[in-house]
Amino acid sequence: MRGATATPIREGTRLAHSQVRFDIKVQRSKAGVEIKLGGNMNEVAGVKLLQLLNEDGRDFAFELSEIDSINSLGVRAWIDFIRSFEDGRNLEFRACSPVFLSQMFLLDATIGKSKVRSILVRGVCAACEGETNKLLDIATAGKSLTVATLRGTCPSCRGVTNYVDDEGEILEFIEKQAQRLSKT
Ligand SMILES: [Zn+2]
Repeated sequence: MRGATATPIREGTRLAHSQVRFDIKVQRSKAGVEIKLGGNMNEVAGVKLLQLLNEDGRDFAFELSEIDSINSLGVRAWIDFIRSFEDGRNLEFRACSPVFLSQMFLLDATIGKSKVRSILVRGVCAACEGETNKLLDIATAGKSLTVATLRGTCPSCRGVTNYVDDEGEILEFIEKQAQRLSKT
């Protein structure tokens, strides 16, 4: 990119190479199909997701821990994809990355009728500002979630790590998703 300031990505703008990495890995087992997605969720990812509409099977788990970024076109593409894909299939989402989670907070349509099994929350140490992620299982957290669940100890300096900016928002999200999981 030329110049010191970043240019916002507009529709029709050619994306830099670093912004087009998007991987799809499909693994089949007796339990169902696991689809691991990683990289940047944008319009390029949206086109690649459409290939999955040909996958046979009923039970699908999406592993989303390695989604690094999402732009508005990526969100739109994901919602369109989920609407078509969930027709006649059971979907669940696992280890939703912090960036993916922030979209789930904003838009219910990113989840659709699917179940969220686990989420990755990003923690920042109050002392050294070091970042760590923590995996929260929704069913477990839904049963006994306390503010202490959302705090931790920094692995580098032993300081207090806070896993959320807005505790109310995440508590509400976990409660809602745990209720959906219990309705099986
Ligand atoms: Zn620290």
